[in-house]
Amino acid sequence: MPKKIILHQSLVLLVLLASISGCANSHNRLNVKEEIKAGSTPLTDSTDPVAQLARALGKDFEIIQSPNCGERRGPGQGKRPTELMIHYTACEKDRVVALFKRPDNVASHYLVDRQGGITRFVEESKRTLHAGVGAWHGNTDVNSTSIGIENINLGYRNQEGQPPGQKVEGSPKEWYPYDEELLHTLGPLCQDIVERYEIKPNNVIGHSDMATIRETGSLGRKIDPGPLFPWERLHRTYDVGAWHNLKESLEKVEFPHQDQTEWVREHLVKYGYPHPGTWNEENTKKAVNTFQMHFRPGNIVGEIDEETILILASLVDRYIET
Ligand SMILES: [Zn+2]
Repeated sequence: MPKKIILHQSLVLLVLLASISGCANSHNRLNVKEEIKAGSTPLTDSTDPVAQLARALGKDFEIIQSPNCGERRGPGQGKRPTELMIHYTACEKDRVVALFKRPDNVASHYLVDRQGGITRFVEESKRTLHAGVGAWHGNTDVNSTSIGIENINLGYRNQEGQPPGQKVEGSPKEWYPYDEELLHTLGPLCQDIVERYEIKPNNVIGHSDMATIRETGSLGRKIDPGPLFPWERLHRTYDVGAWHNLKESLEKVEFPHQDQTEWVREHLVKYGYPHPGTWNEENTKKAVNTFQMHFRPGNIVGEIDEETILILASLVDRYIET
């Protein structure tokens, strides 16, 4: 083989390696499926479990490297991820891609689009900026310990001209359901990640579950993935995340004897929700509303009622070691 060609090939390989080697400041857009089809050097090794999964599902898998990532640090340094966090994008894919490619901005590990295609922006081993201020089980650097998946969904109707959404009791908003094709990919993707890292059911969370307002420590900074995210279906169909069983009798948890509000605050924190520092009526309502969006989406008004107490008791009893 003439020297010139060998050199050329090495150069191509170098460029390819640079563009897929994690958090380099590279904005190359690589469509793995197309590359493989074209018979050139495959850009993911065939053992990449998520690329394999997408192939098995007949869906696209694409790598668009985001510069917004780094080494996992603090509690997550050198350890496997312990949380899986679900988001919605509140915008369409082109805007997400532009945002995640812009340096000094946010990103997530994966994005699932409306057709069920998967885009990887950051390797699973790296830390990226998808969680922000907040806490889960007292850990305030959830970016360092988690994997984040964004889903294309507009959330709720917030502009004239947008199609009507779905009403949810206890919320003035009209919410948008998730696309079926997206869910057919998201379920197996979550299952794959949860199994590979042995992520506990109660550590599969929504962004809203941990995102607090910096100044007040109160939940409510984020509301994604919203009350129409099908947590129960994810649990039942893919064995991903926690769900309650109100028919099961409690083994460890005792129902409140007197002060229901105190009991709810204490058990929310036990389950993993952030402690606001000082509880008051307002941040309690936010916490209860956030909990209901995840576990009692039929009514998310934020009031403490009997069903909310039963659900919280069931979850703490099933998933939290005391
Ligand atoms: Zn989010």
